[in-house]
Formats: sequence, C-alpha cells, structure tokens
Amino acid sequence: MAQVELVAGKAGMHQEEARLEALAATGILDTAPEANFDAITRLAAEYFKADTVLLGFGDESRVWIKSSWGEPVRELPRKHSIFERVLAEDGPVVVPNVEDDAEFSRVRLPLRRIEAQSFASAPVRSGDGKILGTLTIFSCQPRRPMAITELHTLESLAEIVAGQLELRRLRKAYSGHRGRLERNAERVTGIWPRKSDLREALDQRQFVLYYQPEVELATRRIIGMEALIRWQHPDRGLIPPMDFIPIAEETGLILQIGDWGLSEVCQQIQQWRDENPGRPAPRVCVNLSARQFSREGLADHVEALLRRTGVSSQQIGLEMTESSLIPDPGTALEVLTSLRRLGVSLLMDDFGTGYSSLNHLHTLPFDVLKIDRSFVMRMDEGKQPQQIVRTIVELARTMGMDVVAEGIETSEQYNLLRQLGCRVGQGFLFSRPVPAEAMSAMLRLPGRILPDPARPQTAAT
Ligand code: C2E
Ligand code: MG
Ligand code: MG
Repeated sequence: MAQVELVAGKAGMHQEEARLEALAATGILDTAPEANFDAITRLAAEYFKADTVLLGFGDESRVWIKSSWGEPVRELPRKHSIFERVLAEDGPVVVPNVEDDAEFSRVRLPLRRIEAQSFASAPVRSGDGKILGTLTIFSCQPRRPMAITELHTLESLAEIVAGQLELRRLRKAYSGHRGRLERNAERVTGIWPRKSDLREALDQRQFVLYYQPEVELATRRIIGMEALIRWQHPDRGLIPPMDFIPIAEETGLILQIGDWGLSEVCQQIQQWRDENPGRPAPRVCVNLSARQFSREGLADHVEALLRRTGVSSQQIGLEMTESSLIPDPGTALEVLTSLRRLGVSLLMDDFGTGYSSLNHLHTLPFDVLKIDRSFVMRMDEGKQPQQIVRTIVELARTMGMDVVAEGIETSEQYNLLRQLGCRVGQGFLFSRPVPAEAMSAMLRLPGRILPDPARPQTAAT
C-alpha cells in the first residue's frame, strides 16, 4: 500500500521520528488515562449516536487506547490499524460501510465484542501538525455518508484532545517555573500584599466593584453583567484582581471579601431597580473562588442574603472556574444542586482551560458556559480555532446550556461568533468593565442597546 511506503521511505522515517518525539513530549503513554479523555469519548458517542468511540495514541508499533466508550480494549498492534490509515491519509478517514471498502479488509477493527459496520476517524495532532493519535467513532450499522459539518465536529473534538495534551505539557512546565518565581519573589521583594494589607483594605472600604455588560450578540442589548472586583489603593492606584485575589484566597480573607462582594452586588441591584422602575433589572454575575465554594452552607448564606436584601434569585449568577470545583467533586455537585434549587444561575467560567472541562460540563448542573477568552482571541487566526468555538457552542446547545463568549475585542470576532450561533458575549469591543455609575448610564440607553462598534460614536461609558 502506498501509505505504508510513505512511512517506510526515508522522508517517512524522519517524519516518523519527529512524530514519536512529539508523542513522547506529551508524556501521554506513561500515564494513566485521564478523566477528560473519557468525557470526550462519551460526548462524541452521544453526539454521533455511536456504538463505540475510541481515543488512541500510536507509537511506532502499537496503538494505546487511552479512552474508550463501550469497549475494554487497551493496547493493539499498529499494523493494519485505523491509526495507520489516518497516518497514511494524513487526515481524517470516513468509511460509511466497511463492506464497500476494498482496502478496509486489511484494516483490523480494534473491537472484540461488536462488529462495526462503519467508522470515522479524525487525527489528534501536536502543535506542529504531527499525528499523535486518533479519535474514532464506530457504528454497528452502515452510516449515511458523513456531512461535512459532522466531520468538522469530530475534528474539533480531536482538537480539544490535542488542546488537553498541550495544557498538560504547559501545566508541567509552569508548576516548575512558578515554584522558582515564588521562591525568588519571597527572597527579593517580600510579598505584597500581606494579609494585614488586605484586612486594612476591607476595613477602609477600599474594594470596589466594576461591571462589564453581557450583550445579546444579535441586538447588542445588555442582558446581564459581570461584577469584577478592584482595589482602589490610596497610594498604588487601581489594582486588578489577579494581583490580590490569589493572596486573599491563600490567607482565607477571600471569604470576607466574597461576602462583601455578594452583598454589594445585591445593594447595587436594588439601586438599579429603584432607578429603572418598571424595567427588569439585568442579572449580575459574581465570581466565586475555590474557598468560597467549598465553604459549608454556601447556599444557605446566599439564600439569607437574598432574603435580607429582597433581591430575587433570578437576578444573581455565580461564576466558577473548574479549578475551584476540583478539590472535591462530590461536594461540588451537592453545593451546585442546592444553589440551583434557589434559582440562581450557575456559570462555568473560562471554559476549555481546565483539567476536565467536558467531564464537569456533563455531570454538574451548570446552565451557562463561558467560552474562555483565549479561544475567542484566536478566532481571527483561521479555521481551526473557529472550529473549537463552533464545537463548544454546539455541545452547549446539545446539553441545553446557554453560551457566553468572553473577551470579544474585534468586529471580526463579533461577526464570527454570531455566525457560529453564539448568543451572548462580553468584551472590550462593547465595553470595558466600568464603575457602577457608568453602568447606570448604559442601563438608561433606549432599549439598553449598546452602540454598533462598527460605527464609532461617543460611547455610553
Ligand atoms: P474572569 O471572571 O474570567 O473575568 C473576565 C476578565 O476578562 C476580567 O478581568 C475582564 O476585565 C477581562 N476582560 C473582559 N473583556 C475583555 C476583553 O475584551 N479583552 C481582554 N483582554 N480582557 C477582557 P479582571 O477584571 O482583571 O478579572 C480577572 C479575574 O479575577 C476574573 O476572571 C476572575 O477570575 C477574578 N475576579 C474578578 N473579580 C472577582 C471577585 O469578586 N471574586 C473572585 N473570587 N474573583 C474575581
Ligand atoms: Mg468571570
Ligand atoms: Mg472568564
């Protein structure tokens, strides 16, 4: 077969070595299967109504199955495998009916219990394009030929696998780097802020909330907003959250800061309600950090606060990143369920950047998914990043969740997101986070519709 020659030829050998190096760099073959891979295969199975889905990575002679849905296979010879065929095609392979495929008689199906009649397989590539593995869906029935959008979805899922590999590598590199940085910072400068600085900031009421609108993309109508904390320091000026939230978190002061934030938001909602009689107050979303989340009785605390301030639970959203849920997934489900019962919205923040996004998405009762800024940022770079966003939007739709795109900065990103069916977004293109008074002015705009960013005019802020 031509494809086998390609691998055996001299150029092929070179390519093969580079591919194996890329595979080794991921460290994927030495570690146990990861939960997020299971989530990806499970989602692919649901999305395509497949009988089996396999995610495997191949070295020079074997294919290692890192996740399978419906089959207990773990290791296979590479020869005559689907992986080899994807390598040879240097791209996806779709076989709607194995009986019609002359070459396919030479490709061994990695299934023991079921007879697959059709399959589609997309490559998992390293950052520089080398094929490291495949994501393959199998069906016991011959399939109708695959629509191009379906194939794109399969490829996007395979890309999410690749993204996970990259994150895995970065995480490893970063943890070493961060350890060094922290030790250096301590030695050279001493840490600022200290716990006492934060406590003083609380006492002196130096924290402020800024608000960034969430906009319905089709109309540019403000439908909600996100509250983002800043520290108005008397000498150092306005300090962004990333410079103090991690320390607040570490020292435990985040609990008091978080309580302050929630009650501040409730008071602000009341004020906007008074200023806009007869108009619905938009939902305000608050970021919760890990400690707040794992605190006993979070739902009781929120309920008491709502009762005390007379704010309806529908007006509050709580944003959490996956990393804040990780310490204890069992409790996470319990806490989220009780918050959901109260009627507050639950938003998964920074979706796509965590350890096991798909897993959490699947098991926890979130109602909104916020696509991380890093994906939106790369959208103008080409088809692949767009495919990732498209897949996230489609997956969310399949699961009955709403999607908010974060960090929209350009008209191009805005237009693309609309084309991809993303309903809601936020970003500097519409407005930066602004103080409460500036947000009040935006809420007074006719229909609460923000100006068209493509036609520059005096901004409402
Ligand atoms: P996040 O929740 O993902 O918030 C979005 C961040 O993206 C905000 O940064 C916002 O200013 C920024 N952003 C929004 N649109 C754009 C855009 O178009 N381009 C760019 N480059 N950035 C954009 P910010 O305010 O610095 O907050 C950073 C993070 O700090 C937040 O990320 C959140 O995780 C955390 N945070 C903020 N406020 C609170 C809080 O009250 N409590 C807790 N626990 N964490 C908070
Ligand atoms: Mg957020
Ligand atoms: Mg975010």
